[in-house]
Amino acid sequence: MAAHPPKLLLIYTGGTIGMIKDYETNALRAFDFENIKEKIPELQLVECQLETVSFERPIDSSDMTPDLWRRIAEIIESRYAEQDGFVVLTGTDTMSYTASALSFMLEYLRKPVIFTGSQLPIGDLRTDAKENLITAIQLASAQEKDEPKIQEVALYFESRLYRANRTTKLSAEQFEAFDSPNFPHLAESGVHLTFNDPILRRLKRAEAGMELTVRKDMSSDVLILKLFPGITETTVRHALSTPGLKGVVLETFGAGNAPTAAWFLNCLREAIKAGVHIVNVTQCVSGSVLQGRYAASSELKRIGVLSGGDITTESALAKLRYLLTFDFSREEFKTHFERPLRGELTEF
Ligand code: ASP
Repeated sequence: MAAHPPKLLLIYTGGTIGMIKDYETNALRAFDFENIKEKIPELQLVECQLETVSFERPIDSSDMTPDLWRRIAEIIESRYAEQDGFVVLTGTDTMSYTASALSFMLEYLRKPVIFTGSQLPIGDLRTDAKENLITAIQLASAQEKDEPKIQEVALYFESRLYRANRTTKLSAEQFEAFDSPNFPHLAESGVHLTFNDPILRRLKRAEAGMELTVRKDMSSDVLILKLFPGITETTVRHALSTPGLKGVVLETFGAGNAPTAAWFLNCLREAIKAGVHIVNVTQCVSGSVLQGRYAASSELKRIGVLSGGDITTESALAKLRYLLTFDFSREEFKTHFERPLRGELTEF
């Protein structure tokens, strides 16, 4: 164990977890997070020194933006040296987007950054907030041989710790709201906290001496284009001619398949020629894109669509935004996109 109880910073950005019901209007409103220990007296029992910082104006996570990701990253950067770990509370609706983005923004991270939230507000009788928050704090405090057990951006929800950039929100009402369908859980909370040691992320030997580098800029010139049977040329052309467009997450069918119609392939080809990076991600909740497995994806590969493998849409969008801030050649971009940078996809 560290010589002192671990020091953790709790960052509250908004979301259901920090709301209380106004019994007159029945609406949910944010409560003052400075008083968190009054709301959850059990926090006094957790063996760590807990500090809190809150957005001045807590938001519903539907209002989350890259500027606010930058705010979270800056808070972590400014307190990184003195803290042993971070727990970030956000609304669940866009938590996988935010947590995925932070996994790219925080390069050479060696301390835990654990996202959590809840489906019911903290004051609700049946709330899931207490368990999520207390266990996230315990996981962020966990140490072994003077080192944090978790050294990556993770997401804790309903007894499971996930690699954040592998997660997706699956349910709008179950307590078990998240999953990482293409990647095992990092840890489970039962009677004991059990860690899946072989898959916990560690920096490579060559990166060992590197200091945390915070990449604050994320490109805005991206969009997600979800295919559906009957999508028209007008729709695809319109999306791909968005002014300033630099990157597209193309959500395809099954193992990365798309219409084979000439107009469709022409639209993509023209966009790629104009310098837009298009990445192929499956609409399926689990499994991987395999361009070339069916004729319906061979042509995509040939015209230069990049394969997202088993990456999630949330993570692909974050990775595109991140990579677009570098001055990469087309070939370099492809290499970086198609290999894992933060454990976000499986290398085949
Ligand atoms: N609408 C809320 C949000 O994402 C839902 C939640 O916190 O779970 O901010």
